[in-house]
Amino acid sequence: MLFPPCCLACDEPIIEADGLCAACWGRLRFVSKPYCPVLGIPFAADLGASVLSAQAIANPPPFARARAAVIYDDLARQMVSQFKYGDRLELAKFCARLMVNAGDDYWGTPCVFVPVPLHWRRRLLRRYNQSQLLADQLSELTGFPTHSGWVARKRPTRRQVGLSSKDREQNVRGAFVVTDTFLEEYQGQHIVIVDDVVTTGATVEAIARSFKAKYRNKVNVISFARVVTGPIGAI
Ligand SMILES: [Zn+2]
Repeated sequence: MLFPPCCLACDEPIIEADGLCAACWGRLRFVSKPYCPVLGIPFAADLGASVLSAQAIANPPPFARARAAVIYDDLARQMVSQFKYGDRLELAKFCARLMVNAGDDYWGTPCVFVPVPLHWRRRLLRRYNQSQLLADQLSELTGFPTHSGWVARKRPTRRQVGLSSKDREQNVRGAFVVTDTFLEEYQGQHIVIVDDVVTTGATVEAIARSFKAKYRNKVNVISFARVVTGPIGAI
């Protein structure tokens, strides 16, 4: 090899390819139990496995469960932006491995991965859809299929960055359409929506709602990172 492998976050040379250097690995903040069994948001204290977060009680989501591998902080942001704009496609494999661990309570039931789609115009600009790459890697690791043609964006949406949570919800409302393909084949299986980062959840909720309107399948969500606000985010 002409060039030594580099850390996927900081570009320092490392021994093994497809990984992080020891310093960056030590800084990754994994989402670990105790967390809300529905939203996967970490709790400061263990209140028992059946205790839901206030957020999940106040606004029950249209999906059954959401899990994320890491908390979205500066390091996770750096990784995701390298992944999205820096052509570091090997990150998909690395992130997917962590996502398999994060979703370990999903894999006991047959699932089908559904990546959050990009609008075709944005897809052309970026050349690839990062959620699709994550879904493909998850398929490889778990053996469950990915179906990206199942849900599509019927209209372009503004970037969610910088929008308030209400605006985010409005921005993606009715933006997705679920096609009728594969209905028979995947009857009874769990749908797992795959995204790189879950911020307020508006996008994955909009997709889950489109599925619920058409199918009885249970819908779960998995992401590489999730934004955690409030005191837990400060730990
Ligand atoms: Zn590093």
